[in-house]
Amino acid sequence: MAFHRAHGRLMVEAVPLSDIADRFGTPCYVYSRARLEANWHAYDAAFGTRAHRIHYAVKANGNLALLNLLARLGSGFDIVSGGELARVLAAGARGADLVFSGVGKSRNELKDALLAGVGCINVESAAELSRLAGIAAELGVEAPVAFRINPDVDPGTHPYISTGLEQNKFGIPMRDAPALYRQAAELPGIKVKGIACHIGSQLTDLSPIADTVAGVLALAAELEAMGITLEHLDLGGGLGIRYRDEEPPAHADYVRVLSAIPERYEIHIEPGRSIVGDAGVLLTRVEYLKQTPTRHFAICDAAMTELIRPALYEAWHGVELLEAPAASAVAACYDLVGPVCESADFLAHERELSLTPGACLALMNAGAYGFVMASNYNTRPRPPEVLVDGDTLHEIRPRERLTDLFGTERQLP
Ligand SMILES: *Cc1c(COP(=O)(O)O)cnc(C)c1O
Repeated sequence: MAFHRAHGRLMVEAVPLSDIADRFGTPCYVYSRARLEANWHAYDAAFGTRAHRIHYAVKANGNLALLNLLARLGSGFDIVSGGELARVLAAGARGADLVFSGVGKSRNELKDALLAGVGCINVESAAELSRLAGIAAELGVEAPVAFRINPDVDPGTHPYISTGLEQNKFGIPMRDAPALYRQAAELPGIKVKGIACHIGSQLTDLSPIADTVAGVLALAAELEAMGITLEHLDLGGGLGIRYRDEEPPAHADYVRVLSAIPERYEIHIEPGRSIVGDAGVLLTRVEYLKQTPTRHFAICDAAMTELIRPALYEAWHGVELLEAPAASAVAACYDLVGPVCESADFLAHERELSLTPGACLALMNAGAYGFVMASNYNTRPRPPEVLVDGDTLHEIRPRERLTDLFGTERQLP
């Protein structure tokens, strides 16, 4: 267990989280190396000897240290921007181990991806295909391509993280795919490699995934009949994790559904949240307790600037005290809020807790879409990130300094 209690103290691996809060201050993100690696291995082991590639979705958490650890395990990476391309290359990934996703890739991003020798570009429109073919011709290279199709499947998740419905901006409608594949197969500079899709995030039900597999296989059969051969089928990411009482499928059960795909295709997946989500927590300290006529507020030093998921998706994160409550603690049903000047600035609503000012808390399962979505709103420096490996602490990103925030701004003469 990466996060567990020992003698009343909340631990990450062999280290009490309160020691980390004391040493690095709060707010602070903390990750477990063991949990991260176990999650990756769970996918890899579930595939067994079946040909597969795991492309970790960098947007879930792109810290160089985490990327480098995954690269050492043999992971590939799913990137969605030129920035992420530069980041994974800096972390030691090879171009061939990358898949480039995203609905709005710029000319420069496509060019840089081709120059880096990316393994596959998941194209999302006819316009992107012609842009890519032009750039490949200019560079005199062949662009490896899959089309991201939109299977029009309801993933049964929050609308902001659903991507495979007809009304979403993502992918190519199934019925348009064959014509596009035919066009791509005839274009010089384009090499068709596979089919891609990604229907959404925090999926807790296998049936939309099974429907997606069936849709992709039907398209693959149609393309093969047209004489277009495919090397891989990419089912995207999206497997959910347990934040509260969800019961997401185990990695192995998810992989079993994908294994309906015939052996002649390499299976590709792009998991993000299910690799890093439960490997991280956000530490925060209570600054003030404030009682109003209707609410008990715990005003914390972390805010929507550190963890925006509650404000953005009404996401639920578990809240744990790092130490047993002090004798003077006040038991109540608290709203945990931050100092930011927005009423959307909350971390958790209506939690039964015994708190004192100064108490330290962990927001659980904050490893994915946590730090990466942090902002400097209200001129708040972004927090440090600490990676724990057994009993060893690594500060993998220091707390931002105020000079990092406005040091490059220029006043008029
Ligand atoms: C966000 C995203 C992923 C990862 O999704 P998770 O829910 O974090 O697993 C994978 N592929 C694409 C194309 C994405 O946009």
